[in-house]
Amino acid sequence: MQKPGWKIRAVAILALAAFLAAGIGCTARAQATDSLATADDGTLPALSAIAGQGMTNIHAYSELEDLSDDIGGRVTGTPQCNTAIQWALAQMKEIGLQNVHAEPWQLFRGWTRGSAEASIISPAPHPLLVSAVGWTGSTPVGGIDADVVPINVWQVDKELAENSSNWRGKILFTVRKGPPPADGTLALIRFGAEFPKFRAAGALAVIGASRAQGMHLTHTGVIGMGTYSDIPAVSIAAEDEMIIDRLLDSGKTVRVHLDVQNKMTDGPVDTANVVGEIPGAEHPEQVVVVGGHLDSWDLSEGATDDGVGVATTLGAAEAILKSGMKPRRTIRFVLFTGEEQGIFGSRAYVKTHQDEMKNHVAAVILDNGQGPVVTLNMAGHDDLVPAVQSFAATLAAFGKITADDDVELYDDALPFTLAGLPGINLDQDSPDYRYTHHSAVDTFDKVDRAVLDRDATVQALVAFWIADRPERLASPWPAEKSEQMLIQKHDDADVKAMNMWPFGDDGSQN
Ligand SMILES: [Zn+2]
Repeated sequence: MQKPGWKIRAVAILALAAFLAAGIGCTARAQATDSLATADDGTLPALSAIAGQGMTNIHAYSELEDLSDDIGGRVTGTPQCNTAIQWALAQMKEIGLQNVHAEPWQLFRGWTRGSAEASIISPAPHPLLVSAVGWTGSTPVGGIDADVVPINVWQVDKELAENSSNWRGKILFTVRKGPPPADGTLALIRFGAEFPKFRAAGALAVIGASRAQGMHLTHTGVIGMGTYSDIPAVSIAAEDEMIIDRLLDSGKTVRVHLDVQNKMTDGPVDTANVVGEIPGAEHPEQVVVVGGHLDSWDLSEGATDDGVGVATTLGAAEAILKSGMKPRRTIRFVLFTGEEQGIFGSRAYVKTHQDEMKNHVAAVILDNGQGPVVTLNMAGHDDLVPAVQSFAATLAAFGKITADDDVELYDDALPFTLAGLPGINLDQDSPDYRYTHHSAVDTFDKVDRAVLDRDATVQALVAFWIADRPERLASPWPAEKSEQMLIQKHDDADVKAMNMWPFGDDGSQN
């Protein structure tokens, strides 16, 4: 069956056939025993044309440079983030997306970083490198001098029961002793939820609530999803953390000067997701969402988290539009804000589009750093894995890409998964991301152009394939089915800790 756009499609294919022939041929030979789903379903010629545009003719890299260097760190609700929203609207219009608009929503509070300084006063003076954790408070102006007491983050219940009577007027210093829990992230979320108890016990501040990963780097973040703390919490460089650790271990009293000044609003702040579309040629009401998050942390430029996802999303749109290919279904490009405070932008999207969710097919999210896409996490929809695996085989020229049914819990894919859809996370091989994300080295220079263009192209191909295949890939599961899946995969505890369970009312803020 011919679709509108077929003629222009044929022209584009001819122009790019030479470029792609090698890759496709290799795929066919390497997978000789498999049938190529894309060849069977008729999408391959369009995918070839889009791949050609993506690898030769998009501006993802220069867009990332603009976002990183000209706008920089963009914490949701700040003027910098608002500038980024305006910038993204302009980019989408320039690329030629349709129905470009901002979808306003409100974050529960706003927060702006001020200064953070610390030093050990005794037993010997040492400067300490610290950074405030987001959505945490300030010391009195001029700072505090206080003794440090350790608190084992792996056993917070025990600490509260046995040691909290000793916390008045002290600074809590996080340590990790004994066997780590099976789910470390979950343990940290639970630790973050206890900040009101730390404050009630008289603690003045927390050092090391968010752990630094690299050589003399701090790591910002939040203490929990949608939570804030009146007492300040700071991340500390690993080397400085170890100085305090050794002193405490040898039984010495460690006294620290800490001066942290931040600003937190009493009420909600305005922000917006940025949306643009390529309307579907046959089923415009059916929607495939493609995106990443526009907001970032502010210790640096937010280039790898998630400037990359912004750039690949824009690059994917550009590749598809320049190919002239028209997808059967609508591809909706969405740049979310509020991701870093608890995936609030994507939750707001699902809530805003609640009536339309039955027509959503999938979401394709890129937010795992600067490395190449290696796995399509299908969010518990194991029935889709064989088809996606087969599609992924046609991408072999981009390196090995596979599919599994893992659920990504910590990016904008999750609200779509909770809405019953495959919230597809494009998992990337990004070993350096643990140093770059949320730190002072999240800069544009960390991103390799070849990898970025490749990832934008892969994102375009995944989105287009889902939007254009003759059969609809997926429809939303009922809530009970998603719930069962999450329980079976032992992901329910994390979702509960994030205050997103039960999830009949998606997008609700606690
Ligand atoms: Zn991110």
